[in-house]
Amino acid sequence: MDSQRVAAAGSEDMTSPILILGGTTEARELAALLAARGADAVLSLAGRTVNPVAMPVPVRMGGFGGAEGLAAHLREAGIGALVDATHPYAATMSRHAAQAAAAADVLFLALRRAPWQPVPGDDWAEVAEAREAVAALGVPEHRVFLALGRQELAPFVEAPQHDYLIRSVDPVMPPLAVPRARYILARGPFDEAGEYAMLRDARIEAIVCKNSGGTATYGKIAAARALGIRVVMLRRPELPEAPNVATAEEALAWLDHAGALRGV
Ligand code: NAP
Repeated sequence: MDSQRVAAAGSEDMTSPILILGGTTEARELAALLAARGADAVLSLAGRTVNPVAMPVPVRMGGFGGAEGLAAHLREAGIGALVDATHPYAATMSRHAAQAAAAADVLFLALRRAPWQPVPGDDWAEVAEAREAVAALGVPEHRVFLALGRQELAPFVEAPQHDYLIRSVDPVMPPLAVPRARYILARGPFDEAGEYAMLRDARIEAIVCKNSGGTATYGKIAAARALGIRVVMLRRPELPEAPNVATAEEALAWLDHAGALRGV
């Protein structure tokens, strides 16, 4: 860690709140660890999920209005440290967070879980974006499981020949304009046995998903390996350079070392 930033943190007000940009399991875990320490922490959610799970610290909802809006919020709320614990595919928010922390001179940490790596037996095609995933599925019709979240589905209307099974936390509205699509509403974690049964029963031939990392959604990857199912994996987007850790426990230790928990 950079000594200048530690010095800056040391001069902060001892009760400066920590703002966690959330939407992930790790954000919730860090919030719980901070709450257990008696730290003043606030969790920020984009507000995309209709019924977010209960959080262990106060929650604020909705965008800040770009990097400038977030920087203004950091100043006005007297935030002492900003933790970007958004999903690894929330690249816009991560970029704004890094810019805003620099502009407001606030201690900044990225909490990013490590990506999954292919292991022997995996059949992965890595692609840059959903449009490329459509091309990777090819022309012949397949039974395809889409586990991408709701925001990346639109390009699949270009491949109406496939039979889609689509899983999301909230309903896909409007439904995908293809002749054959079934929907599953579910929130992880998803274990391997359940994913295996679901993929086998639906006779899925290809999965399209993000490289989310972590254990909560790895079940489908392990099940795909066991069933010999092809995985079209969206590569992670470029994220800004920042001090980063992979777990909530490491984030707590980093914040502690940086002086963000002084006085609690
Ligand atoms: P994004 O494209 O990077 O963000 C778009 C805009 O949404 C941001 O510019 C910001 O608006 C607002 N925003 C995003 N995260 C926010 C947060 N934690 N608090 C307040 N505002 C936030 O991100 P996204 O793909 O829409 O993801 C939105 C949220 O869902 C993130 O919190 C992310 O962790 C979570 N999530 C995303 C995925 C995924 O695959 N993308 C998966 C699971 C969970 P302003 O510019 O107005 O501040």
